Amino acid sequence: MSGQKILITGAAGFIGSHLCDRFIKEGFQVIAMDNLLTGNLQNIQHLFKLKEFEFYHHDVSRFVHVPGSLDYILHFASPASPIDYLKMPIQTLKVGSLGTHNLLGLAKEKKARILIASTSEVYGDPLEHPQTENYWGNVNPIGPRGVYDEAKRFQEAITMAYHRYHGLETRMVRIFNTYGPRMRVDDGRVLPAFFKQAIRGEELSIFGDGSQTRSFCYVEDLVEGIYRLLLSDYVYPVNLGNPQEITIREFAEEILKLVNNPVARIGYHPLPVDDPKQRRPDISLAKRVLNWEPRVNRQEGLNLTYQYFKHILSES
Ligand code: NAD
Repeated sequence: MSGQKILITGAAGFIGSHLCDRFIKEGFQVIAMDNLLTGNLQNIQHLFKLKEFEFYHHDVSRFVHVPGSLDYILHFASPASPIDYLKMPIQTLKVGSLGTHNLLGLAKEKKARILIASTSEVYGDPLEHPQTENYWGNVNPIGPRGVYDEAKRFQEAITMAYHRYHGLETRMVRIFNTYGPRMRVDDGRVLPAFFKQAIRGEELSIFGDGSQTRSFCYVEDLVEGIYRLLLSDYVYPVNLGNPQEITIREFAEEILKLVNNPVARIGYHPLPVDDPKQRRPDISLAKRVLNWEPRVNRQEGLNLTYQYFKHILSES
């Protein structure tokens, strides 16, 4: 792969920055693009000194120009956590629609292969468990979360249209909950919230009785799956995530044990109306077409993430 050129949008974000690391490691020339809406340059600061790395501060919802040739595009720019997309509904809709259209146009012009980051949220409040790629979802287009879910559904639709109509080489990943270093402490998701509360000796907030389940994929595993998908021949959406489920109560206990702060404890609060009972990917397709499954166990992944949060929170 040495010398091949890849554009990564959302490069200063959590997943985008890990993708930059991986593609640099594989010998690619990486062009990183981000408007820093929710990202942080610190995530990619270590790459600025490399001649194989370039950064463009740009909003991809506006026309995107990149000089020279391009072999691949990874479109990961988008507000991604509920706190972010509820605060920035219009930007979220624009980056999923106009941004994706701009990048598909760029891919067509450069004859590049493009992979877009979709999400398990395209399944909405699913009526099938676990979710396979054949499930079409249960989404409320006009609810507050519709701005994210429908932007991503439109993104998939326009990507398929470019594939069918223009013969563009397209790939789509439906990402389930992913965690690891460089997640934002205040992104509103349960994992950073628990770490922050445990490290600060506060109450770990469980909503409801904690019997709801979640499954968490370590970022390195996700990146491996994305790498394989990009280089595969498979054009339809592929779920990537960790199917191992854990209840929120067990998860809080695991974090308490890991952080070992004697004053931290669990506190129970009323369950919000839209809290999903269960989230779990069916990854049979990824196993079959990519020969992929998660390798990093939760204990190992949480330990690495804990080191990161400990460091970040000691600085703030
Ligand atoms: P993140 O917020 O850390 O990263 C998103 C990046 O996109 C940020 O750096 C932000 O500044 C940038 N961005 C947003 N709008 C932009 C625009 N118009 N132009 C240029 N840059 C823009 O989020 P993340 O968790 O790394 O998510 C990355 C992608 O993966 C998103 O598309 C998200 O929908 C998808 N995804 C993530 C998860 C997860 O568990 N983290 C799950 C499903 C899907």
